Amino acid sequence: MKLIKQFCSFVGKEIDIKQASLINIIRSEIVEKGAISFPRFWHQALLHEKFGYYMKQDVFNKDGDFVTSVEISQMFNELIGIWLLNTFQHIGVLDSNFRPTQQKMHILEFGPGLGTLSSNILRVFAQFNLLENIQYSYVEYSDYMRKKQQEAVLKQLQKNNIYPKFEYNDQKVEKFESEEIKLKWFKMYEHFLYEETREGLNCDPVLIIAHEFFDALPINIFEFSGGHWCERLVGLDKDGKTLKFILSNGPNQNVQKILNPDKYFSPEIKKLIKEGDTIEISPQSGVIANSLAELIAKVGGAALIIDYGEKRAFSDSVRAIQRHKLMDKNDILNKPGDCDLSAYVNFMALEQAALKVDGIKVPELMTQGNWLEQMGISARLQILCKNANKATEKRLQSEYERLVHSNQMGSNFKFMCIHKTKNNNLFPFIQDAQQIYY
Ligand code: SAH
Repeated sequence: MKLIKQFCSFVGKEIDIKQASLINIIRSEIVEKGAISFPRFWHQALLHEKFGYYMKQDVFNKDGDFVTSVEISQMFNELIGIWLLNTFQHIGVLDSNFRPTQQKMHILEFGPGLGTLSSNILRVFAQFNLLENIQYSYVEYSDYMRKKQQEAVLKQLQKNNIYPKFEYNDQKVEKFESEEIKLKWFKMYEHFLYEETREGLNCDPVLIIAHEFFDALPINIFEFSGGHWCERLVGLDKDGKTLKFILSNGPNQNVQKILNPDKYFSPEIKKLIKEGDTIEISPQSGVIANSLAELIAKVGGAALIIDYGEKRAFSDSVRAIQRHKLMDKNDILNKPGDCDLSAYVNFMALEQAALKVDGIKVPELMTQGNWLEQMGISARLQILCKNANKATEKRLQSEYERLVHSNQMGSNFKFMCIHKTKNNNLFPFIQDAQQIYY
């Protein structure tokens, strides 16, 4: 009994020490500089070099904290692979027989997690004998996740006797190359832009995928208080230890720079705003969406952004998840590095940012269920079930339901596309998309 007690208190201490490290770093920063912005807290919690949530652990599988669609079913990833092939054909990188033309097939993936989506995409390309002439670029902040992705992708390519060699790592980009394929990992999107555009924007058309990436980007939270908008900052409670939200002393710089209430709210909405109302804004998301649209306008291509959210701003959507459980709102600030942070994606803000660029179109958003059905998931399910035993059939059926049914992930998750106006009618983002792909 005593032994067990000692062991438990030892384990308890270990956890405390681990938590205390990052929370102490944040506390010291607050003591030194005063309350910090929520995006600064968010960055430290997810991406602090040593203790950040994504920097040190497997968070995606059944034993981790959450499971994403790409980890739920290969059907999901295969259909994204098919979409990429179809889109390469639509924009002229592949000809009408799915054979390569002069241009490279360039794919850019944001936040590739365990590399599962990418590996499955490459498998689809292999089935079409199209593994040659690919450049696959990845944007991944975490060293730990980059290693995981590289392992998964290289393992997949080995199955096709492709052995890209490690070329170099200069902190900003890690390169692997073979005769057939070029793989490049960038820590930040800015590094990708620098590398790919330093000789002028003459790179090949690029198809961009961001699956559950935008929801991981930090948000500022603004609150209407005392007759004006203030920002919710992260400060210390009276005990000098516990982190808590505190309001800026009146409208701070960010209220003007990021929210800009005079412009943001229409006169009708202004009349409805009341004390305590809040609004979330992710400035980084808008900057990236705008930059992706610029890239597409210049070099050609399209972006597929998949996330949970809607075409509107949210007021209270931040979530912290640990071991598949939603954490209590009050704990969000006090477990930095030990839980995931995310916020619903405001697709309207992404669309507006993209549409600032001339020659860009953003077709109507599709729900995940509708997108997958249009792309033929039911037909794919039937084919897979034909050759499967009862247990596998049951598993496939339940994966399908989880992805497609509206009471599961089918309607909360949305598919957004950004493409050139001249590449109109990009499947399945067409009105009345009734046609089944297969
Ligand atoms: N697409 C994967 C993983 C989603 S989780 C899936 O759906 O399973 C978010 C991913 O983005 C992780 O790989 C994380 O390390 C990465 N990430 C989070 N914030 C980032 C940032 N600011 N810049 C680059 N990568 C980031």
